[in-house]
Amino acid sequence: MDMGKVPLYASVVAIVLLLILSETKVTIVVVKILSAKNCRFSSALVAAFTLLSAHPVYADDSLDVIAERYVKLALAFGEIDSHFVDAYTGPAEWREQARAAALPLSDQMAEASAITEALAVAQAAAGEEARLRQLQRNVRALSTRMRMANGERLSFNEEAALLYDAIPPEYDYAEFDAALAELDILLPGEAPLGDRVQALRDKLIVTRDKVPAVMEAAIAECRARTVARYELPQDERFDLEFVTDKPWSGYNWYQGDNRSLIQVNLDQPFLITRALDLGCHEGYPGHHVWNLYVDNKFVKENGWLEYQVFPLFAPGSLFGEGSANFGVELAFPGESRLAYEQQALYPIAGLNPDDGARFEAVSTLMGKLGNARTQISRQYLDGEISREQAIELAMKYRFLSRSRAEQSFDFDDTYRAYVINYTLGLEIVRAYIERHAKDEEDRWAVFESLLNTPTAASDLIE
Ligand SMILES: [Zn+2]
Repeated sequence: MDMGKVPLYASVVAIVLLLILSETKVTIVVVKILSAKNCRFSSALVAAFTLLSAHPVYADDSLDVIAERYVKLALAFGEIDSHFVDAYTGPAEWREQARAAALPLSDQMAEASAITEALAVAQAAAGEEARLRQLQRNVRALSTRMRMANGERLSFNEEAALLYDAIPPEYDYAEFDAALAELDILLPGEAPLGDRVQALRDKLIVTRDKVPAVMEAAIAECRARTVARYELPQDERFDLEFVTDKPWSGYNWYQGDNRSLIQVNLDQPFLITRALDLGCHEGYPGHHVWNLYVDNKFVKENGWLEYQVFPLFAPGSLFGEGSANFGVELAFPGESRLAYEQQALYPIAGLNPDDGARFEAVSTLMGKLGNARTQISRQYLDGEISREQAIELAMKYRFLSRSRAEQSFDFDDTYRAYVINYTLGLEIVRAYIERHAKDEEDRWAVFESLLNTPTAASDLIE
């Protein structure tokens, strides 16, 4: 509200209304205006101010107050966009209130604007600068999702910038073609390249009955390497569940109180390489460990209420997916990963370790095709290519069957630019750690410093 053009009397009336509605430190501001202008308002009005001042008065620009408004708004929006709230560990009544109130989108958007304005003038206490920056980005992301729910169409890059704080570069199909040509040399044969890759992958499939034992061994090793470096809460634990009929490969559902539910989807054949990917990504030092830091340090120690809610479409997702993916190469750097898999996991799975060595080179080349996903999804969502063209590109560059390619664009229709978080997030986190770590062991310390600080992509990019 621009008070500059409004007469003082009207301003004071407006402030009184605001005051009655919000019980804020506006009281003090009003009293200051009254005394400074030496104005002739009735003593009754001044008495009213005094009375209201006796209420618990807190600064409406304090981050704690704004954070609470943000959490409540995120819960309200979660009633409209069912994917928005990924995890919530705050008071159950706040969620019940949001459900019961069923605040219309237009009112929610007005509250988002008000919070944005409050944050623009908010002052961070010493040591809370990163907190303020992240809260501003979270509110920007929430407002953006509200605009999208309101029917606004944003380009892929606009969405990536506003939700995840990063814009993926343009990728060149010529680079993907070069990787395909290298794969063609590595796996010679008459059959289509995709079939040759698949034939090798088939040799690495763990039979269903052996998946739990392989997965438990993998996650125990991920955990052992992490607890050797980080002091985790004594009672931290996870439950491992095997599920089917899900659009994702694995999921970590943080339950609060240092506990996670890690679900592994068995819809697709379980390649032995998935064991460490999932163990580190969903567990240690990935999502589960990050959730422990956020819950214990941000929420319980610092009292940063906004971290009671974990929004899916926000900068934390790029950092979360990127750091969880980096967790695999942090815990199993370079060749040590294959060595561990061959020595410990292949025997449990009853697979031939030599097939693992042959797959390693293929897997590295396929890594170069990782950004094809982002490029194809961007063109598809921006309407530059049809769904059919996108499916054909996904079959060619990602070796997907037609049905899995179709499934992947169903994912994109719902989660849209979220796809950038895995690959771009990993690249950003990895580049930051490589720039700052003195040696391989120091990478753990730099990684922990990121888990300990509110972090978004633009904090990590030089
Ligand atoms: Zn993840």
